Amino acid sequence: RQAEFAKLRDTPAITADGQRITLHTNAGLAVDLENLDATGAEGIGLFRTEFQFMVSEELPRLDSQTALYKLVLDTAGTRPVTFRTLDIGGDKVLPYLETTEREENPALGRRAIRLGLDRPGLLRLQLRALLTAAAGRELRVMFPMIATVDEFRAARELVDVECAWAKRRGRELPALLRVGAMIECPSLLWHLDALLPLTDFVSIGTNDLFQYMFAADRTNPLVSDRYDPMSPPALRALAEIQRKCADTGTPVSVCGELAGRPLEAFALLTLGFTRLSAPAGGVGPVKRMILSADLAAARRGMANLLGSSSASIRGELETLARKLNV
Ligand code: PEP
Ligand code: MG
Repeated sequence: RQAEFAKLRDTPAITADGQRITLHTNAGLAVDLENLDATGAEGIGLFRTEFQFMVSEELPRLDSQTALYKLVLDTAGTRPVTFRTLDIGGDKVLPYLETTEREENPALGRRAIRLGLDRPGLLRLQLRALLTAAAGRELRVMFPMIATVDEFRAARELVDVECAWAKRRGRELPALLRVGAMIECPSLLWHLDALLPLTDFVSIGTNDLFQYMFAADRTNPLVSDRYDPMSPPALRALAEIQRKCADTGTPVSVCGELAGRPLEAFALLTLGFTRLSAPAGGVGPVKRMILSADLAAARRGMANLLGSSSASIRGELETLARKLNV
């Protein structure tokens, strides 16, 4: 199997009916960078910057943050990288940071952008590192756990503040700057019309989005597998985001774990998504699925499935995929 996937490394991800799919990989540490060449992923769709903080014994300083981001961009070369700003707090407590503390309900706590906006110094330092590392080249940065349009506006303002700071000092800015939001809080689903005009792109974090939609802690094995993302409510939510993004011309990708599983990724493509970012181990299997998928035929089947009243349409999706030789 591994050898078979390795052979697909340089094969473009084009479906059987000719649709070009962008297949990226998720990463978080310098060691993950070798996965780019190893898997043939076309870029990094989600770089989890908090990993550097989690393996560090003290707050990573500006220069070590900058050095890591530079290394990532240098290694990626012409392949695009989307950096996600710090997603700490909640269950990711950093012992050296007094602003993260144990919370009763960490998944619903002061994590990610909430902490970043409460402690703008922390977020600004990271943005400064990103801007410095990407001087003269493209910088793509996105904010995790955005729950309101105002939070995105405030976070984006910090990017502007840091750009102005760098400019005043005569520093070179990124040649191209793209700022995006992660869609992982259900509240945004009903405010996409207000959010999308403000973003350059969005990326759907299905791990969190479904944890919140089904009210099931993703870290608690008693409930984490109780609900199937391959269900009409979950897939309809994704379809709605896809449609609104298509209507507004907003690039949208899916970067949760399910983008790395062939059947789930098949469902995503069938819903109209064309950009996926998968964990490294999923890139090969998903690429193989893409090459065999006839999306035009699959779409007709999917439209019926979304009307089902079942809690899971996994079995039906499997049948559909088999019927289409995916
Ligand atoms: C997600 O929530 O789907 C996501 C990609 O972010 P993380 O898994 O890091 O929370
Ligand atoms: Mg998340």
